[in-house]
Amino acid sequence: MEALQYKIVRSRRKTLSVSVSRTGEVVVRAPLAARDSEVQAFVLRHVRWIEARRARLAANKLDLSDGAVVTLLGVPYTIAEGPPRIRSGVITLPREGREAALTALLRPFAKSAVTALVNEYAARYGFTYRSIRITSARGRWGSCNARGALAFSFRTAFLSEEQLRYVVVHELCHTKRLDHSALFWREVGAILPNYIKVRRSLRAASVVMDRL
Ligand SMILES: [Zn+2]
Repeated sequence: MEALQYKIVRSRRKTLSVSVSRTGEVVVRAPLAARDSEVQAFVLRHVRWIEARRARLAANKLDLSDGAVVTLLGVPYTIAEGPPRIRSGVITLPREGREAALTALLRPFAKSAVTALVNEYAARYGFTYRSIRITSARGRWGSCNARGALAFSFRTAFLSEEQLRYVVVHELCHTKRLDHSALFWREVGAILPNYIKVRRSLRAASVVMDRL
């Protein structure tokens, strides 16, 4: 194994943990009293996991150079230089600051896609909700609070349409039940009979959260 660089962050915690940031940096969180040899052994035990995570990040890295293709809700768009805009099949971005420009475009893009689906399912299955908000969340695709305020990450734009439908239905079902009980899943399954498969694919897709 080649030497693996990592950063140690010590704090008043009881266990060791390792994470890989979206830029590939390895950070080990350790208790104050952990010996360096202990930390090193821990990292060694997790080398395979670290490498797999880095490979997944690299494979998912967003290429925003001219001519690159970015897929949004299953539809491919070619990147070109121009004022920030999403048109059919083409996303134009300025020469500099492309990630920030795309982020700004994806918020309204996600908002209109999510709103259309929320309204479609709300009308068909009689859900009521209070509002729809687009967030920058990385840890979760969507959420719903007790008042029926729905929130969705702009990163849902990187999902397939089928996956986004599942995220929308999941949150809408929370307007009726806030838990993840058997009754909740029965509700989801009544609308999307194949939801278990989609839910599994969504877990595998969590790495796209780190794209932008
Ligand atoms: Zn849920």
